[in-house]
Amino acid sequence: PGRAGPDPAALAEGVLNGDRRALARAITLVESGRADHRALALDLLERLAPARRQALRIGLSGTPGVGKSTFIESFGLMLIGLGLRVAVLAVDPSSARSGGSILGDKTRMERLSRDRAAFIRPSPSQAELGGVARRTREAIALCEGAGFDVVLIETVGVGQSETLVAEMTDLFVLLLAPAGGDELQGVKRGIMEIADLILINKADGDLKPAALRTVNDYAGALRLLRRRPHDPDGFPKAMPVSALAEEGLQKAWAEMQALAEWRREKGFFDSRRAEQARHWFEAEVRAGVLARLAADPEVARRMQALGAKVAAGAAAPARAAAEVLAAFDARG
Ligand code: GDP
Repeated sequence: PGRAGPDPAALAEGVLNGDRRALARAITLVESGRADHRALALDLLERLAPARRQALRIGLSGTPGVGKSTFIESFGLMLIGLGLRVAVLAVDPSSARSGGSILGDKTRMERLSRDRAAFIRPSPSQAELGGVARRTREAIALCEGAGFDVVLIETVGVGQSETLVAEMTDLFVLLLAPAGGDELQGVKRGIMEIADLILINKADGDLKPAALRTVNDYAGALRLLRRRPHDPDGFPKAMPVSALAEEGLQKAWAEMQALAEWRREKGFFDSRRAEQARHWFEAEVRAGVLARLAADPEVARRMQALGAKVAAGAAAPARAAAEVLAAFDARG
């Protein structure tokens, strides 16, 4: 049933018209693992490319409970108030393990999800990072084709998902909670290095003094980082926000715009996208080679047999690997 699959021409037309249902179906298509769907997905993406629509792609990361969904809702509604259309995508490689996906909860971002100028897409249940990467890159392209001005890509602060998101966005925002004591939170240095803006959330009520102190701590720590060539003076920057009280959001947006504008003027914006496109291409080639390798029955048979020999100490790992690859080469 449904073997013919969706019609890419009709889907493309719907997406280009900004039809959110068409967009949702298009994302389902790029998420599909079926080979015939892959061909249709590529066709669809090619039909959107000539429109050359671009959104500002913003990565947003933070540990559970820091206020990501509250922030996205307030920030998203603020942007919509400015006349912008906002898409939200989630990257959550751990969702299959934890049993629920971020954004999966219907009660999250209720007001935003009801708004016609917003589009929210939860993380697919597929857990493998490579699959999530492809799906997210293509979903971004689809959202841009649908004319969204801002695409927010949300990720929880686990594993490599932040690096992954940073590799497909123009700006990266790290959301943190006010620190309890006087010590900096256990934020990994690597994440500080990819962040463009560190927002200390919950800067309201009793938490406000702690939030302001945390902002100062991070501002100090950021000054110690080596200045990156693609940053103007003062970036990366730390600042307080309250997603709940809706404070500091316009300021944060102004900083994001200023940074994006500066990078556009200096050529860093386009060169970063060009580099990202190249990485995407290379990742697809690598993934394709691995998939072919895994699908080859002769290779699978040898992997099995040689794996056992290696484990038993009867074959050297590197030699056994060379044998498998030689067998793969021989099959053309
Ligand atoms: P997420 O897991 O990162 O998506 O976090 P949520 O948005 O679900 O928020 C976790 C909790 O923090 C909820 O109880 C929110 O009401 C609360 N919260 C979020 N933002 C703020 C804020 O700006 N101020 C305060 N005081 N609480 C907040």
